[in-house]
Amino acid sequence: MPLKYVRPNILALSPYSTARDEFKGGDISVFIDANESPFHTGFNRYPDPRHRQLKQRIGELKGVDPSTVFIGGAGSDEAIDLIYRIFCEPGIDNVLAMSPTYGVYSVAAAINNVEYREVAPGPDFAFPVDEILKAVDSHTKVIWVCSPNNPTGLAVPPEDILRLAENFDGIVAVDEAYIDFSPYPSALPLIASHPNIIVLQTFSKAWGLANLRVGMAFADPHIAAIFANVKYPYNLNGPTQREIMRQLDRDISAQVEMVKTERARVAESLDRLPCVERVYHSDANFLLVKVADADGLYDFLVGRGVLVRNRTRVPHCSGMLRITIGTRSENDRMLKAVAEYCNADIATSGTDSLTLSPRRAEVRRRTSETDIEIVLDLDGDPSASVIDTGLKFFDHMLSQLPHHGGFALDIICRGDLQVDEHHSMEDVAIALGDAIRTALGDKRGIERYGFVLPMDESRAMVLIDLGGRIDFKWDVTLNREYVGDTPTEMYSHFFQSLASALRANLHISATGENCHHIIEGIFKATARALKMAIRRDPFHYTLPSSKGII
Ligand SMILES: *Cc1c(COP(=O)(O)O)cnc(C)c1O
Repeated sequence: MPLKYVRPNILALSPYSTARDEFKGGDISVFIDANESPFHTGFNRYPDPRHRQLKQRIGELKGVDPSTVFIGGAGSDEAIDLIYRIFCEPGIDNVLAMSPTYGVYSVAAAINNVEYREVAPGPDFAFPVDEILKAVDSHTKVIWVCSPNNPTGLAVPPEDILRLAENFDGIVAVDEAYIDFSPYPSALPLIASHPNIIVLQTFSKAWGLANLRVGMAFADPHIAAIFANVKYPYNLNGPTQREIMRQLDRDISAQVEMVKTERARVAESLDRLPCVERVYHSDANFLLVKVADADGLYDFLVGRGVLVRNRTRVPHCSGMLRITIGTRSENDRMLKAVAEYCNADIATSGTDSLTLSPRRAEVRRRTSETDIEIVLDLDGDPSASVIDTGLKFFDHMLSQLPHHGGFALDIICRGDLQVDEHHSMEDVAIALGDAIRTALGDKRGIERYGFVLPMDESRAMVLIDLGGRIDFKWDVTLNREYVGDTPTEMYSHFFQSLASALRANLHISATGENCHHIIEGIFKATARALKMAIRRDPFHYTLPSSKGII
């Protein structure tokens, strides 16, 4: 029974019970139990403190019972802290970990006044199972196993985890932040037979949701219940719970495969460079690289606008940099800069697409009425887009652009909607036109023209030419004054402003019965036309010299 490892005061705890915890079923429509405001703001109600829906969904995804799931609202860092608070008596108990490993374990130990004992790694950073078991004493409560390990990248084989769990009378905490990139399966199924194992995972890495700060712990149901008692009552806010639910429908496998393919390519390319002494084997989404002069290379890369993690002052990591695998073009920028530092030409795997430069833009437009931030990556992942202008219908329309245009687009607009939607919509158009124009740069090799055929039950036709001449034609009749929360007259202004800022020739005509569908058709058709016009023709684009040099 793993409860024997829990501190007595935690075991005896009678947890804070929220208003919503005490309510058990019934058909309630008047909620006057939690001292909330009755006025709708979108956020006036407390979120579910028990994360029931999310645990259910995560349980399905991972093939485990929801009663074994804990969800943390400050990433898995919250679970790390809770492990100290639940199992370790301050000033008395100790924990063990291999060095080097994730820095939060030792910081959280210090915060909780728990002694943190480090064990040196085996050859090539192998996990030192025997040495760790030898270092256990009567006050050792937790053994940390980071697999794959940060910053070394090496995963710990499941046999080693089992040996620890079977030979250590305490908690084996397995941090699987990078498990999606590992060749080994997760330790999750081991919990049933070895209830002293706790597995940590996160949405911050393979799922691409670091900004949301959500992590998970999986444990024996008795332990998971203790986690729920000790956490802050509302540790996960409502919008985050909803967003994670939405994001869990994504399939991340293609992105994970891309990272793994790039990891192999980047490792091989780095390995060939004279100033690179060693590229360590990695089961994660980063590479640990030993170089002749870590500080020198680090500074040089900063000067080239490329930031990596300098680990040279970490024990056992002298001379080493940790480099995260980015997109293909980001990796190429890094490789090119490292090659430049080594005074070496770098031969690449030889596809023409290697020579394609990134097409990104960040635009901030602030006026007295609005504050707009746009991040655009014409070659980015559309599903990662975030659009929030405060106008629901307009957001819905704008989100058609990345979705049908095949690019990544974030638009955040804080405007004075109380006064008028006019400014927000027009300023977004101007900032968006600027962003597309900036991202296109010299426009070398793009198709330039785009057109689409009629679509949907309304007919929308959009012609675009990105040649640089500004022209705008609008042949659309909208017979309602408002659609959703936006005035229809603003849509011609929107597209006109977009055409001017983008310096494009844009002709739009549309007919149909329903204003909503006409406007939506125009946005979709514009996105499709843009998609064609911004597409790069790799043959057209290839530089005159095609020596295979990046
Ligand atoms: C990034 C990372 C985490 C994660 O963090 P979050 O707090 O969930 O963002 C946990 N463990 C390791 C080893 C990591 O590298």
